[in-house]
Amino acid sequence: MNKIVLINEDLCIGCAECVNLCPKKILYIDADTKKCKVSDENKCDKRAGCQNVCPVKAIKIIK
Ligand code: SF4
Ligand code: SF4
Repeated sequence: MNKIVLINEDLCIGCAECVNLCPKKILYIDADTKKCKVSDENKCDKRAGCQNVCPVKAIKIIK
């Protein structure tokens, strides 16, 4: 299965901007790493709201 939501954890600062914005509620901050993760990316709408809101460009949506 192809990846849809690519998250660069090296860049992520755990600000949760993407988590709060995601209409599908599939992004979350990992309690241990404090980095963004995706739960069920098959629910992604691919509209790239998270990609656009991320201040450090840590998310890429593969359309
Ligand atoms: S593209 Fe949209 S639905 Fe998919 S993870 Fe980003 S904000 Fe959520
Ligand atoms: S908006 Fe970017 S930096 Fe903030 S939690 Fe999401 S991926 Fe990480």
